[in-house]
Amino acid sequence: MNQYTIQKLRDIVGKDHVTTIPEELTCYSYDGTGQEYPPAAVAFPGSTEEICRIMQLASATPFPVVPRGAGTGMSGGALPVAGGLVLVMSRLNRILEIDRDNQVAVVEPGVINGDLRTEAGRHGLYYPPDPASMQFCTMGGNVAECAGGPSAVKYGVTRDYVLGLEAVLPDGSLIHTGVRTAKGVVGYDLTRLLVGSEGTLAIITRITVRLLPAPETRTTLLVLCRTMVEATTLVATILAHHTPCTLEYMDRTALSIVRDKLPFPFPEEAGALLLIEFDGRQDIVPIATRQLTEFLQTQPGIILNRTAANSGEADQLWAARRAISPSSFSLKPHKMSEDVVVPRSRLPQLVSCTEKLSRELGITIFTFGHAGDGNIHVNIMLDRNIPQEVQQANTAKQLLFEEVLRLGGTLSGEHGIGLTKAPYLDMELDPPTLALMRRVKNLFDPQNILNPGKIFPRQEAPEKNI
Ligand SMILES: Cc1cc2nc3c(=O)[nH]c(=O)nc-3n(C[C@H](O)[C@H](O)[C@H](O)COP(=O)(O)OP(=O)(O)OC[C@H]3O[C@@H](n4cnc5c(N)ncnc54)[C@H](O)[C@@H]3O)c2cc1C
Repeated sequence: MNQYTIQKLRDIVGKDHVTTIPEELTCYSYDGTGQEYPPAAVAFPGSTEEICRIMQLASATPFPVVPRGAGTGMSGGALPVAGGLVLVMSRLNRILEIDRDNQVAVVEPGVINGDLRTEAGRHGLYYPPDPASMQFCTMGGNVAECAGGPSAVKYGVTRDYVLGLEAVLPDGSLIHTGVRTAKGVVGYDLTRLLVGSEGTLAIITRITVRLLPAPETRTTLLVLCRTMVEATTLVATILAHHTPCTLEYMDRTALSIVRDKLPFPFPEEAGALLLIEFDGRQDIVPIATRQLTEFLQTQPGIILNRTAANSGEADQLWAARRAISPSSFSLKPHKMSEDVVVPRSRLPQLVSCTEKLSRELGITIFTFGHAGDGNIHVNIMLDRNIPQEVQQANTAKQLLFEEVLRLGGTLSGEHGIGLTKAPYLDMELDPPTLALMRRVKNLFDPQNILNPGKIFPRQEAPEKNI
């Protein structure tokens, strides 16, 4: 990008809303993967109209543009791998409307997920998708990745709440998809296509979501098991008879790295923990909780099964759960964070596989996550400065993916393909399906200027590394 282009950008968004200062560019050159790719410039647009004009400039020049929310993505989606412009959504952070009667909210893409949840709560409403990063990730990033979270086991993921979108195409034209009504089948479902498109098809500038009545109450149960296999075997058994709003899992290593945050002493014999919640009406939730507690008393392998004494203890458990990802760096300086999914009944095989890989390859691998969805975060810990560890970690990733597909699963449940999983996409998608997806990308973005280098394996032999 030359000085003329930078000046044009300043003309569009104002001189204070574009930076090329190297120290400032550094802040926008990484994401949750810990990888770093500096952009040539960063712009902070203040309106949809400015984004349209930026994309007209980008397609005429041309130069790459990477939309960015909070940069918490775990697959490298917001990394400007081809340089160019990073477009940060932080100024587009207004909750435009909460329509209480129709249970709909309209937000700009830079709104923080947790802020929408809080604001909806003030109206007696509820926005369920709750990624563990909810206090800092944006709604635009959530839509682009189809974010999930602990409550997906009962409520579903972002895709299940997005009714309609406003978005800017790579050539600068503005489109409107979907509806703000409860139903709507006019034309192709472009909303579904854009949800989970990882910033490669269009820049999302406005999001209409549906809301639910806020649950009246909530109870939290913790179940400590002797082994990972016993804990994960329980998951499908529980869901066959009960409808919790959360069924999270942490293995022994995950528990040990957050032991100082747990509201109970860490028992040495504990191999895994299930964190289970019920929410809903005051008269129903205590009954559901009691039924599950009684049911668990009949199950093998459980060391401890109890309900959190109060909301303070439940909050402490959640704080510990949310701290696992950041705390994992106490084990090693880097990690590959995979978010594979298998059918729930096959979770025991999945965790057995990760234990085996860890043992045979001599590296630390630990697991936690949304067991109720069969969506387990497999964390392969390494030091990227040690070639032997990089090699072993890459081998573990390849073998893990092979096992997940063999078990009838999928490579990503919520983090997306981005950069880190692109070389593995053809393990799951057959050639005609992949070719059709490439044609869709080409139709939206014939010059390949919007978030290039993401999702698709390179045409030439891909280098499979982190
Ligand atoms: C501690 C931690 C816990 C996490 N827990 C979860 C979890 O429980 N569930 C889960 O699903 N994820 C989780 N994540 C991953 C991450 O928070 C989500 O993927 C989130 O949706 C990313 O939002 P973001 O605003 O940070 O987006 P970014 O990281 O900035 O961007 C992610 C992708 O979205 C694109 N994008 C961003 N804004 C737009 C836009 N307006 N238009 C088009 N494309 C856009 C980017 O180009 C990129 O491809 C976690 C991450 C961390 C660090």
